[in-house]
Amino acid sequence: MNTVGIIGGGASGMMAAITAKSCGADVFIVEHKDRIGKKILSTGNGRCNFTNIKQQPECYRSDQPDFPQTVLSRFSVPDTISFFLKLGIYSKNKNGYLYPNSEQASSVLDVLRMEIERLGVCVYTDTSVSFVSKKKKGFQVHTEKRNISCDTLIIATGSKAAPVTGSDGSGYDLAKSFGHHMVPVLPALVQLKCKEKYYKNLAGVRVQAKVSIYGDDQYLAHDTGELQLTKFGISGIPVFQVSRFASRALYQKQHVHAEIDFMPDFNDHAFESFLNARIQSRPDKILDQFFIGLFPAKLACTWISISQIDRNKKVCDLSAKEFDTLIRLIKHFQTEVIDTNGFESAQICCGGIDTRELDAATLESKLTDGLYFAGEIIDVDGICGGYNLQWAWSSGYVAGSEAAI
Ligand SMILES: Cc1cc2nc3c(=O)[nH]c(=O)nc-3n(C[C@H](O)[C@H](O)[C@H](O)COP(=O)(O)OP(=O)(O)OC[C@H]3O[C@@H](n4cnc5c(N)ncnc54)[C@H](O)[C@@H]3O)c2cc1C
Repeated sequence: MNTVGIIGGGASGMMAAITAKSCGADVFIVEHKDRIGKKILSTGNGRCNFTNIKQQPECYRSDQPDFPQTVLSRFSVPDTISFFLKLGIYSKNKNGYLYPNSEQASSVLDVLRMEIERLGVCVYTDTSVSFVSKKKKGFQVHTEKRNISCDTLIIATGSKAAPVTGSDGSGYDLAKSFGHHMVPVLPALVQLKCKEKYYKNLAGVRVQAKVSIYGDDQYLAHDTGELQLTKFGISGIPVFQVSRFASRALYQKQHVHAEIDFMPDFNDHAFESFLNARIQSRPDKILDQFFIGLFPAKLACTWISISQIDRNKKVCDLSAKEFDTLIRLIKHFQTEVIDTNGFESAQICCGGIDTRELDAATLESKLTDGLYFAGEIIDVDGICGGYNLQWAWSSGYVAGSEAAI
């Protein structure tokens, strides 16, 4: 019987353990936190959005864009749903986003832990791995408490995001000790810091908007949804979705800016007509009153002060140039992105083990026989919406089943 060692007891490590044990292997997990699966408790605002019915290749990013699909096709969304149903998780479908019906992330962690216990997987918590050595056959995992041998090894230590949950980046050093290279590991699904001073007046504003990201004036990505303005810059789901592109461009020392469209349901022409009709309907309103009922007051006040138009001017007296300035501010608002928030605030990281060094069919290292990887440590990141956990389940399944053979 093969002994499979797994370093890291997060989502992917637990899935790998359950799979390998179900395939007949002896399995142990080494986890440096006092409990396994801590990060799962924070997912989906404590409700755990554990997968998403809507799957498209673009939902997953990697330097090798085809790599994730090979893995995901071996353990798909229906596989995930039936796996969790067997463990007791009845899904609640919210517009394609799946949660446990209990809406408690702890339910997902509980059923995984119960299954690990039921199958008899050996779990060493509070155990830090000092290093791993390759033996003639298999590996020796060196910890401060004990040395443990295994025939095959899975490194499932996550990324550097939310390090308080245990993913402190130490797994990257273990991978490097076997000669692996990293695609730069950067915060993703994270807030963006902007240069302009007016953000301190805008904090708390939430508004539907389209956010587009540019690096050195080249378009990189966009997303539409509820934008949140904070005292340091921009946040909310559309910002999270484009943040990995901003992160990469900033890392490459590009000049990064975001363009915000505060009226995404209208094209420029339709919005011009709409504003003109609004002026015709109440020509005596002063600019200060004109946006009431259309946009949050703090936002309108900021546009007016950037435009330098007299806020007491009647809207029927606006010049064509002033009208255009307002249109540009509302539909093409420019803001300079100077940084992302740090790893502590990021939901995930982009980057990780270079997938060119892994066999996509098995997740085995091409550099060391018997060494496998699973989860976020690999250079694959998903968009927000259950895709990162789906990656953890699929890659955990593939690594677990292959390492068990
Ligand atoms: C706030 C937040 C909300 C999120 N919400 C969602 C969501 O709703 N849906 C979604 O799909 N994704 C979500 N994610 C992302 C998702 O949680 C992760 O992508 C996923 O948990 C990654 O799984 P993993 O097994 O690769 O890593 P992790 O879950 O981070 O697990 C890694 C484990 O390895 C352990 N470890 C690390 N280094 C060592 C070492 N040297 N020795 C021993 N043990 C080690 C860690 O303690 C940890 O337990 C969220 C993330 C955060 C932070």
